[in-house]
Amino acid sequence: MAKVVFLIVDGMADDRIPQLNNHTPLSYADKPNLSRLLLHSELLYPSVLGKLAPESDSGVMADLGYDPRKYSTGRGWFECTGVGLKPEEGDISLRVNIGEVRDKKLISVRTYLSQEELKELEKDINEKVSIPYSFEFKAGVGYRAGLVIRHKGKKFSPYISNNEPGYKVRFYGRHKLSFALDSHSNRIEKIKPFKKEAVETANVLNDFIEKASDVLVHSQVYSKRKKRNEPLPNFLFLRDGAVEAPKMFDINRKYGARWAAVVGMPLEQGIAKAAGMHVYDVSEREDVSEDLEEKARAVIDALRRFDAVYIHVKQTDAVSHLGKFVEKYQIIEKIDGILIGKLLEVLDIEEGDTFVMTCDHATSSLLKRHINSNIPVLVSNKKFGGISEFSEEACRSHHEKRVKHATEIMPLVMKLWQTGN
Ligand SMILES: [Zn+2]
Repeated sequence: MAKVVFLIVDGMADDRIPQLNNHTPLSYADKPNLSRLLLHSELLYPSVLGKLAPESDSGVMADLGYDPRKYSTGRGWFECTGVGLKPEEGDISLRVNIGEVRDKKLISVRTYLSQEELKELEKDINEKVSIPYSFEFKAGVGYRAGLVIRHKGKKFSPYISNNEPGYKVRFYGRHKLSFALDSHSNRIEKIKPFKKEAVETANVLNDFIEKASDVLVHSQVYSKRKKRNEPLPNFLFLRDGAVEAPKMFDINRKYGARWAAVVGMPLEQGIAKAAGMHVYDVSEREDVSEDLEEKARAVIDALRRFDAVYIHVKQTDAVSHLGKFVEKYQIIEKIDGILIGKLLEVLDIEEGDTFVMTCDHATSSLLKRHINSNIPVLVSNKKFGGISEFSEEACRSHHEKRVKHATEIMPLVMKLWQTGN
């Protein structure tokens, strides 16, 4: 039975970097294992959302074959289900960042906390914040959390702004996506309703933010960090509120293949669950080699039990946001050495297996943000002849022109799988 491995390397595509001899991290990285796959490969170079620079939720959905403008009811739903919360129709689910604010000015939207600190704050907020609704606040990873506020008969509304100043909401009917702004003011604003029906929703959330801030500044975590002169957790940034489940088709039924996901972050776990995939509970480790080794082990197991596996590697995007292009190409080399190296022991392209490597969006290490460039895609299958290189430039100049949008990658890949069996 032929297998499919679909690898998404977060924010992998990049600009050319002068310090890397005008290479991108992907083209600069030494990739001996990937080179072996080039004997039977084709390149694609689709757009994700046209002129808009996609966030990870849009990019991952598109790569997996779901147009985010038609399926996303708000990223908050995936974030909350990804951390294990169970929102119901009408509840509001949000992505939360724990950050720092001083004199109503933004210091940071990301106060990186240890998992113990994050868990302690989760407990404080759940026990001490009192609003006229029941709610659940759950720690994610680093500075991230999920929040579900339960409705009381009258459903909440999705038509609200974010209080994170760097993100703007765009609506497509009842569907919504967020986009990062190139520049923004540092003034903290309240969540605003865009429609009359959303006034109560905005009020409840602003009340929650205020009360949670008070709990945060009186927490043990806060006072200990203050003594150590570390970045402080004193404010919650809420975004991408969703009030209903995304109606995504079941990916297993659509293509007749059983899917598993080996992904560590709540967002990607939430999307994989909503697609109907079996989600392996791998942790997102800070040590890149350990992270890739754990994921490689899970993928080998998944390939025994499932037809297709989606793997997500997050760290490439994180280092791009910090401008660390050297780390970025080194991570790509580790993906090649550890993950793809292991995969080559079990995948057999000559026998009909398919390997895909792409990203959810490009993240520029020079600009330290997502950019709206098309995404490079490598598809390896015995049906294809050889290519010489996998890079942004190679994809730009030698891609299969029929594939214009990222949502077309998955149907093409699954057709290869179906004809291979
Ligand atoms: Zn991403």
